[in-house]
Amino acid sequence: MKKIKIDSGHGGKDSGAVGNGLLEKNLTLDISKEMKKYLDENYTGHETTLTRTTDIFIELSERANIANRDGSDVFISNHVNAGGGTGYESYIYTKPSSGSVKLQESVNAEALATAKKYGLGAHGIDNKQGNLAVVRQTNMPAVLTEIAYIDSKDAELLKNNNFIKDMAAAYARGVAKYLSLPVKKMPVPMEESKVVERDINKVSPWAEKNWEEAVANGYFDGTRPGATITREEAAVVINRLRSNFLKLIGNNTNDIKALEARLQEIEKEDKK
Ligand SMILES: [Zn+2]
Repeated sequence: MKKIKIDSGHGGKDSGAVGNGLLEKNLTLDISKEMKKYLDENYTGHETTLTRTTDIFIELSERANIANRDGSDVFISNHVNAGGGTGYESYIYTKPSSGSVKLQESVNAEALATAKKYGLGAHGIDNKQGNLAVVRQTNMPAVLTEIAYIDSKDAELLKNNNFIKDMAAAYARGVAKYLSLPVKKMPVPMEESKVVERDINKVSPWAEKNWEEAVANGYFDGTRPGATITREEAAVVINRLRSNFLKLIGNNTNDIKALEARLQEIEKEDKK
């Protein structure tokens, strides 16, 4: 069981970056909650918890302490950038463990692929290093993400709930792949499991007798019993049947013509 600790940057009295009517502390909480949801829905073999699930203030070292105390296997701190730039980036410690380097690579690969779908790129080099408290003081592989800029045109994306959800899912996949978490097996939908491909060259058991008779009597050639019939093919069969009937009843050509005229009268009646 792998323990994942998701840290929602800022909170309470510390709003973090502010811009375009958005507060960083609210966005980081949304991202982190969506991330946990995605992990719980799609992967087994992990226990994912957040440093905060509400709008409260936590000191930076306490965030690291929480992860250290819980013996977390991975720490990811989610943030929103400010300073008027554009793009996604992430940070690991300046003297990173090999685990942190791999974790950052895994998260960045997913995050950048998703960001690209929204027309968002990387802010300079995406895999940055920084002497940031939460990545320095944590004992496990740790990465800090900066989703986009709150005080530039990026803010339009930050207002888009689909972008937040998709990026959170990307972070989740990055962490899950780094930890090699087993993917939950999806149940097979009922409709799909019911569909059975039929062989049109094999007659259905319930139609066997009728099919044999119709073939023996010359109405079908005996091939492809399961194929759909076209209107023109049906016309040939109907006319074959009709003319045989007339021949049966009539004794000579004249009789047949008279019978056909009467049959046509009956057929006209049927149409009304
Ligand atoms: Zn921040």
